[in-house]
Amino acid sequence: MSSSASADFTTPPHPAGTPGDTAPLVPYGWDEEWAAAFAPHAGQGLLPGRVLRVDRGQCDVVTATGTVRADTEFVVPRDPMRVVCTGDWCAVDPGGDPRYVRTLLPRRTAMVRSTSSKRSEGQILAANVDHVIVCVSLAAELDLGRVERFLTLAWESGAAPVVALTKSDLVPEPATLAHLVEDVEGAAPGVSVLTVSAALGEGTDVLAAIAAGGTSVLIGQSGAGKSTLANALHGEDAMEVHVVRDVDGKGRHTTTTRNLLVLPGGGVLIDTPGLRGVGLWDAEGGVGQVFAEIEELAERCRFQDCAHIAEPDCAVLAAAADGTLPQRRLDSYRKLLRENQYIVAKTDARVRAELRREWKSRGAQGRAAQAAKRGRLR
Ligand code: GDP
Ligand code: ZN
Repeated sequence: MSSSASADFTTPPHPAGTPGDTAPLVPYGWDEEWAAAFAPHAGQGLLPGRVLRVDRGQCDVVTATGTVRADTEFVVPRDPMRVVCTGDWCAVDPGGDPRYVRTLLPRRTAMVRSTSSKRSEGQILAANVDHVIVCVSLAAELDLGRVERFLTLAWESGAAPVVALTKSDLVPEPATLAHLVEDVEGAAPGVSVLTVSAALGEGTDVLAAIAAGGTSVLIGQSGAGKSTLANALHGEDAMEVHVVRDVDGKGRHTTTTRNLLVLPGGGVLIDTPGLRGVGLWDAEGGVGQVFAEIEELAERCRFQDCAHIAEPDCAVLAAAADGTLPQRRLDSYRKLLRENQYIVAKTDARVRAELRREWKSRGAQGRAAQAAKRGRLR
């Protein structure tokens, strides 16, 4: 491994190690599994690293010896799922010119969103996330459907969701708070529901303990209290850590924002602009997990493909009729399934439309070429 590469590094946020020593990567989530995934690449002068941020075809990758700025263009271009994203573990060639991210180590989880209406592909928002903290404000009336929606997205990523009911200081009555927690628990089987108040500093320690066990992201509606919680998790010196000044070739100072931060209490927090407005994307699997009790009931329906609408011997309808299954849950389940199918159908339609356009223009070119040929022949 070449040590001349160190000149290419910007100032690392921690004591620099040697290329063979991966200990400095441990706070970033490096473990034996990542070491095993990286092992096949170790012999080629490549270093393992984690992507801190991505912008304009380049990314910052933290390695054991410092932060490397590398090009992201590689592997299968135009496949949005193979695009380097914040949280990815990869192999970089620190001495390369230009430097490239050579390989993405297989992702454990990925947060995906549907892109703007112009494009039909999914977009990766964050990779290798362990905990998705769904923030729900107690300042507004609870919208359980929305909670379910965010949970669906969280489950779909492969990460474990947690619900943080924020601004608990605004619900001073303990009994009322307990009821709200219970309501949300009903919409979130198998998910821990916590109450936090960044204002009072209550519950943030529990959240910090969860965050310490891996990589976390905060999702939720605008105003849910995500930034405030992120600041509470970062601690007082958040801005110092958040902003890294790099001197570019011309000696100017440019300010860059990291989207992946090591928390003072341990663990990593990813906060990308895209994570702030996520929607549903092909989340049928996630729907099943959010509505686990309905899927369980469905196993007892007479028909395997029962749609639980008007079928005879439908266990889901029976449970709704006798009140074991709240009608709201069933409605929300149907709504999410419909919405999800709509997104998938819309996406497919867009892909088909794009293909048609491409074929049409190729056809037009073909016809133009033929006409030109005929013209010449005439
Ligand atoms: P984001 O859009 O999800 O990042 O939400 P913010 O963190 O910007 O918070 C939205 C608003 O809620 C801000 O005005 C915060 O001051 C307020 N807020 C955040 N956390 C708390 C809290 O624990 N208690 C109270 N009362 N207000 C809070
Ligand atoms: Zn049924």
